[in-house]
This record gives sequence, structure tokens and C-alpha cells, in this order.
Amino acid sequence: MIREDKNAIINISVSFDGTWQKRGFTSHYGIGVCIDILTGLVVDFEVLSSYCHTCTLRECARRDSKCTQEEFEEWRETHVDCAKNFLGSSKAMEQEAAKRMWGRSVYRHQLRYTEMLSDGDSAAFKEVVALNPYPEHEVVKLECINHAHKRMGTALRKLSAERKLGGKGQGKLTAKKCKALQNFYRGAVLNNQGSLDIMKAEIWAGLLHSMSSDDNLMHTRCNPSWCWYRRAEEGGQIPESHRLHAGNFLSREVGQKLIPIYHRMSSDSLLKRMQHGGTQNCNECLNSVIWARCPKTVFVGKSRVEAAASMAISTLNEGASAMLAVMEKLWLQSTLVTVNAMKDIDVIRIAKANCVQSASAKRRRKSASTAKKVKRHQQEMEEGPTYGAGMDM
Ligand SMILES: [Zn+2]
Ligand SMILES: [Zn+2]
Repeated sequence: MIREDKNAIINISVSFDGTWQKRGFTSHYGIGVCIDILTGLVVDFEVLSSYCHTCTLRECARRDSKCTQEEFEEWRETHVDCAKNFLGSSKAMEQEAAKRMWGRSVYRHQLRYTEMLSDGDSAAFKEVVALNPYPEHEVVKLECINHAHKRMGTALRKLSAERKLGGKGQGKLTAKKCKALQNFYRGAVLNNQGSLDIMKAEIWAGLLHSMSSDDNLMHTRCNPSWCWYRRAEEGGQIPESHRLHAGNFLSREVGQKLIPIYHRMSSDSLLKRMQHGGTQNCNECLNSVIWARCPKTVFVGKSRVEAAASMAISTLNEGASAMLAVMEKLWLQSTLVTVNAMKDIDVIRIAKANCVQSASAKRRRKSASTAKKVKRHQQEMEEGPTYGAGMDM
């Protein structure tokens, strides 16, 4: 990032996410990470620990009367490198990390994180708003498109199960149709960045398209890029009968029941928060790299978690070659073999990423994922309830 004025404070949009060493909010360690949405670089991170092994050992000794209270207090005053830097619960770590990073962004990095991309009902965002870190600049929340896409799918499947809208027969809200509606929604949001009205119109068009039949055509708002009917019309052909596309057909009764969900998921405030077109994929990817370097299944100390986070972040920001600078600081001399090996790792990583990003690879993954989900749903329907709380053994 180049500043024309070295003292200037820059406003940036960041994606913030928290990750824990263990699931179920029992973890002693949590990490909060801020990634600049524009560059994809990590701008700050914070490791929180609610555990110190040295303190625990000393407290055990005091309990077992191996040392007196005075001796313990005396030792505590000299214990300056305590690993415990957070006293709250594991669940509250994410918001604490956000508070610390927003609180220091100006003096440490000369940056204001004025737009925050985070989970749906993020407690961290509320904490940042309450902190009011930049009195003359409001912090605005952005929505992750992937989270909104997931919420749409969850709402549709929940409605289908609660109101019994699924099952066999024409016009039902099956798992496949939920998936199709979810994808129409995501497409409408992604393809219409910068135009809130068109985005909203296309979200509703997805529902109307799915409710269309030969007797009740509702394709006027559809986009030929995803609507077979409009595509045929634009190509000067007579569109096929809707019966040939019955896989996506929803009956009028079922479609009307979805209207409240569509109202909620196309509200102006939600769509405005998705105008950046970004996702939290980068955070999720980084989280997996961190925990690959620091196993979740074994006990580790805070320094191990910090090392894993630092190494993963250095690699994300600068590639494997970042390790050469670390080696230099540790007085380890890197040979030409090491330098070339690091460069090779980076070249292979970039080539792999380009391959994964290719359109054909994306199409392959998408169709494989849809087929897997449909198969799983069919199996579950055929098997009936097999496992759940309160079931007889
Ligand atoms: Zn300690
Ligand atoms: Zn259509």
C-alpha cells in the first residue's frame, strides 16, 4: 500500500473472523484475524489465551500446600510473561479480539477499518460499534455473500420441513429445488453488483421463474444468462414446454409460502451490505492453514498457537519465501537450496491456485457437489429417521 502523505490515515474494508483451537466453545485459545478485502492481505491478528500452564502448576502447588500463599503472591508478581491474556469465556474471544484490533488500528497501522465483513449476527460488530474507535467515522457492517447464500438455503429447507412442502409430486419444494432457488439468489447478488434495484428484481425473478408454467408465464424479469425460456426467445426460437423443465417447477401454493423469505432476503439493508461482492473465503482458508500447523486434537501452549498463526499469515501475505526472513532473524543461514526450494513451493502453489480457479474446474466441483447433496437427501428420505436425540436404541 502506497501512501502519498506518510501521516495519512487510510480507511479500508476488512473481513474479520474468529477461529478457535477446539470446537464447542471450550477452547483455551482463539484467534481473530482482519484481512483487507481489496488486497487479500492480513493486516492484523490477535491470539487470545485463557490458559497459562505455569500459573496452573503454581496454583496446584499452592493447593497442595507445597508453597505458602505469600510465596505464591511473590512469584505472581515476578511472572511477567504469563500466557493468559484474556479472562472471559471462549465464546467472548472473538469480540475481544475485534475490540483490540479496532482499538489499535490507527496508532499501529495508520488504518481505519471502516467497513467490517463478518458473520450474520456478529457480536464482534456490536462490540466494535460500542467501542466507537473512530469518533468521526462510522464503522459499517458488510455481509458475506456465502453466509447469505447459506441462510437462504437453511430458510428454504426449514420451511419445507416445517410446512411439509417437500416430497414427491409436481410443484413441491424438494432439496433439489431449494438448491436451485439458492443458486438463483447467489447469482442475482453476484451478477448485479453496483445496482441494488436490478439485484432485487433478479432475486424475485428467480422465484417467479420457478413458479412459471405453460399457462402462467412469469419470465419477463428473467435474465437470458440463466433462464432457458428467455434464452430461447432471444435466440428467435419457440421456447419448449415447461413440462420438459418440470424439475424446477414450483406450484403457486408452494411459491406463495416462500414470499416472506424472499422479502427478508431481499431487504434493502441486506442487499446494501452485499454490494461489495466479497466473501469470507480468505479467512476460512487461513483458519484451515493455521490449524494444519497446530493440531486441534492435542494440548498446545500459547506460543505454539502464535507461531502457527504467524507462519500461516506470513505465507499468505508473502508466500513461502517469507520463512527466509524468519530464518535470518533466528541467525539461521539459508543456503541456495533452501531459497530455491521456497521459490518452487510458491510457483507450485500459484499454479495450483490458478488451476482451481479455472472455469472448468469450478463447473466440475459445482456439479459434483450438487449431485452429492441430492443423493444424500434421497438416501435420507428413503431411510427415514435413523439417528437423533431421544430415539430408542
Ligand atoms: Zn501465567
Ligand atoms: Zn425465467
